[in-house]
Amino acid sequence: MDIALEGVSKTYLSGQQQQTVLRDVSVHVGSGRFVALLGRSGSGKSTLLNLMAGFDAPTAGHIRLGDLSLGKADDRERTFFRRRHIGFVFQAFNLLPTLTVSENVLLPLDLLDVPITDARSRVAAALDSMGLSGYGDRFPEELSGGEQQRVALARALVHQPAVVLADEPTGNLDLANARQVVELLNSACRDAGMTLVMATHSREIKQYADEVLEMRDGQLVAG
Ligand code: ADP
Ligand code: MG
Repeated sequence: MDIALEGVSKTYLSGQQQQTVLRDVSVHVGSGRFVALLGRSGSGKSTLLNLMAGFDAPTAGHIRLGDLSLGKADDRERTFFRRRHIGFVFQAFNLLPTLTVSENVLLPLDLLDVPITDARSRVAAALDSMGLSGYGDRFPEELSGGEQQRVALARALVHQPAVVLADEPTGNLDLANARQVVELLNSACRDAGMTLVMATHSREIKQYADEVLEMRDGQLVAG
């Protein structure tokens, strides 16, 4: 699934203060492509990913994912679309601490009402593909940071979304784990033809991404 932004601006209002974070951004991410998003902290990377996910609306401009114009859809349509077609990975893993590893990975399938026997085998396959078979009954706090993020990858990919949005997924990891997470995400998305947009601080991402863009002064430039 492709992603198109046209003339997208985002201005935040906090009290009397206005802050324009994105200025007239237009970009097309082709289906199955891996685009890396660089930029210093506060440059608007998370803002851009949140707009792509339909979590927030742009102040101006249009965003389209595949056939869906986010601005024309209502909340319910956006929610269903997100559950079905989008996978997320966050810097802080965001696993639910009271659920086991398997239960965490099961969540997206549960939301889609996938029958439980089918769902269990997909969870097992997703964990296996992340090198985590045998970890299913553990709790997140019993895992290392790298392992937790690999659980989060399994959870992001288990429903085979068309689009994966990753917001600094290696920000809390050491170099070796960061590399492993990037390589797993890259190969999983390429194998399945998923579109991947990843915000990162690391210029090393150039080895993997099809395209590197950089947020600068509210605009996207070649990175
Ligand atoms: P990055 O992910 O590149 O670090 P962000 O998109 O998180 O950047 O933030 C860009 C700017 O927008 C920052 O100055 C931040 O304070 C501001 N910002 C982000 N989200 C909000 C919000 N919900 N309300 C007000 N300002 C926000
Ligand atoms: Mg951010």
